[in-house]
Amino acid sequence: MDDRTATAGVVLAIANQKGGVGKSTTAINLGAALAAVGERVLLIDTDPQANATSGLGFNRGTYTHTIYEVLTGDLPLEEAIEATRVKDFFLVPSSIDLAGAEIELVARFARERQLAKALGAMTSRFDTVIVDCPPSLGLITVNALTAADEVIIPIQCEYYALEGLTQLLRNIALIQNNLNPRLKIEGVILTMYAKRTKLAADVVGQVRSHFGEVAYETVIPRTVRLAEAPSYGEPIQAFDPASRGAQAYRDLAAEFRRRHGRA
Ligand code: ADP
Ligand code: MG
Repeated sequence: MDDRTATAGVVLAIANQKGGVGKSTTAINLGAALAAVGERVLLIDTDPQANATSGLGFNRGTYTHTIYEVLTGDLPLEEAIEATRVKDFFLVPSSIDLAGAEIELVARFARERQLAKALGAMTSRFDTVIVDCPPSLGLITVNALTAADEVIIPIQCEYYALEGLTQLLRNIALIQNNLNPRLKIEGVILTMYAKRTKLAADVVGQVRSHFGEVAYETVIPRTVRLAEAPSYGEPIQAFDPASRGAQAYRDLAAEFRRRHGRA
């Protein structure tokens, strides 16, 4: 890999301790959409469930060089990077072993900084490094937020959408105060929006009034195609580029790039 960019790329954590809100779907499809417009993107899967890994067509359980070995065994991150089927889109896979890492990490020196340390100068080789977080606020998520410049919070347009958000924001503030003062909340993304339902419209209204400009204008619709793509091991851009879901993630990528002065 060449050192294409002189400056370090942005490290973006995608976090929400609630499961099923669209973190992995956003990590895969925002990543692929950024790669499609010429960015060099690395996705680091830090969820033991490895949904981003399998969703990109990698058979979970068959890799011995994963984020687990990086975080607990000092494997250089570079040795865990795999090329995906999408040009300029790379993956550090996860594995189920990571489920035990929370406990193994406790005994390590600077346990909150293992991912930041592992990333080191690697960030200069990518425009965007996306860290897909597990559905918890444990040590792995703390590692992700300590390594990140920015965090994006996906929020599902459903009844209990805002539940748990206070706790997440409190944790982000704790990390900003104690471990990573440069961390900023880059955005909130509304996902799985069902058209013509009052509930979805209500959630959008609440999130916009609470987060203002931080909330992305782009809203990700609920579509069957987005739910189907991972079982084919493809981002929506490859699986069904003409679909509404693919368009939404292209819009999201464009908005992300405008916010970063890249477009
Ligand atoms: P998380 O990583 O937050 O747990 P996922 O991205 O895995 O959430 O999404 C949870 C489930 O919902 C998955 O089965 C995924 O395929 C599906 N899903 C995610 N986004 C959408 C969407 N916009 N429309 C339909 N299904 C979606
Ligand atoms: Mg996930």
